[in-house]
Amino acid sequence: MTASTAPKASHIESVRSAIAERRTTAAACAEEFYARIKKDDAEIGAFLTLCEDRAFAQAARIDKIAAEGKPLPALAGVPVAIKDVMVTRGVRTTAASRILDNFVPPYDCTAVARLEAAGAVILGKLNCDEFAMGSSTENSAYHPVRNPRDKTRVPGGSSGGSAAAVAAGMAVATLGSDTGGSIRQPASFCGVVGLKPTYGRVSRYGLIAFASSLDHIGPFANTVKDAALVLQTIAGRDPMDSTSADVPVPDYVTDLEKPVRGLRIGVAKEYFGSGLGAEVRAAVEAAIQKLAELGCEIVPVSLPHTEYAIPAYYIVATAEASANLARYDGVRYGFRARGARTLSEMYRQTRDGGFGMEVKRRIMLGTYALSAGYYDAYYLKAQKVRTLLARDFDEAFTKVDVIAAPTAPTPAFKLGEKMDDPLAMYLADVYTVTANLAGIPGISLPCGKSREGLPIGLQIFGRHFDEATLLRVAAAFESSRELP
Ligand code: GLN
Repeated sequence: MTASTAPKASHIESVRSAIAERRTTAAACAEEFYARIKKDDAEIGAFLTLCEDRAFAQAARIDKIAAEGKPLPALAGVPVAIKDVMVTRGVRTTAASRILDNFVPPYDCTAVARLEAAGAVILGKLNCDEFAMGSSTENSAYHPVRNPRDKTRVPGGSSGGSAAAVAAGMAVATLGSDTGGSIRQPASFCGVVGLKPTYGRVSRYGLIAFASSLDHIGPFANTVKDAALVLQTIAGRDPMDSTSADVPVPDYVTDLEKPVRGLRIGVAKEYFGSGLGAEVRAAVEAAIQKLAELGCEIVPVSLPHTEYAIPAYYIVATAEASANLARYDGVRYGFRARGARTLSEMYRQTRDGGFGMEVKRRIMLGTYALSAGYYDAYYLKAQKVRTLLARDFDEAFTKVDVIAAPTAPTPAFKLGEKMDDPLAMYLADVYTVTANLAGIPGISLPCGKSREGLPIGLQIFGRHFDEATLLRVAAAFESSRELP
């Protein structure tokens, strides 16, 4: 079958069944997606590296199973791509940083290995902010990513490539990472579904660390069901990550069918304050109204410490980053500056030439917050605020099953708009960092459009390890929108 006659493939099940029924092959499907990437990605910039050898070898394995008439695994032949902060054996992994420009890892990230074991075909590695630090993907050391819905705008960040690749039809699903919103905010900006699971739900083995107590891996997809399928595949205890939880993984996809009538949806006024853009407010309020029409009960809740979330996040995240990034010294990985005369000169020059501006800013902030004289005033204080934020959610979840909120205060902003103002950029995360600090799951799904046609995201938070309920509510909302 030629690429042009392959079925239109934007959903996992449509790809898998087309291959199972021999209407296409995994190889033809991969070819079709590579053709699209080669045609469209020059303008968008979502990919940093393509791994065609690995993809076609996997496609051949799937096609062999299909030809033998054997049952296909859940993601058989599904073209996916991976944010370039997850290591891939034999495939260059950069974290969008010069310092890892030539780094070829010797092993696979667990989430990547699980996708491949379930039959997915990995097309390549996706652009992002350097070390996942940013909200617009403009901090990539390579090139920015353009939002496929409006190419003058950012795709959000830091997983901008992961969101843009799905939005542009260059992958059926992708993996991203979310430390303070980097899955949900770009999903919202690009009009796709993005899910940050509970802390510990998905192994972080092979995720290049930014802030270890806040980092999560999760899926991007076109539908809630596809996001559920990918989560199902990557979730669960991994002996290689001691923080991965030994909690049974439910059947998320089957659970999507359960009715939502009677579920209690919390709405917190702290997420609807003066910083919220009017169009986002209107779209999210309409979405909550829709959930009420579906039989959910809308319950006001209070999350009183929300206003302290951004400062607490930027202390904890930078402190952990400054420790995690100490390993890039020019000896163990990647780039090494040439011409240094002493060892410490080599360290300095490597880090100076290898790291970009934002990464350096974070290392300095974090080192300062952890320094002997300031530890109690900043780091310890931020940890206490973190506990208060987590308690806010615990308290709210005694009254409600999920909480609905905006994902981001505005739709996608223009490329360059916030580049000279890091504080304005940090505020793009005001509604997302709380879930990372508390470790609870959150999803963003499209709920409307601005006058200019830009996507707006609805965010839904759930209890620890209760992705099933938030997926169910998200799926019910999504299908209510699909009705004429
Ligand atoms: N934008 C936030 C930051 O810059 C969150 C990034 C992320 O989630 N990786 O830290």
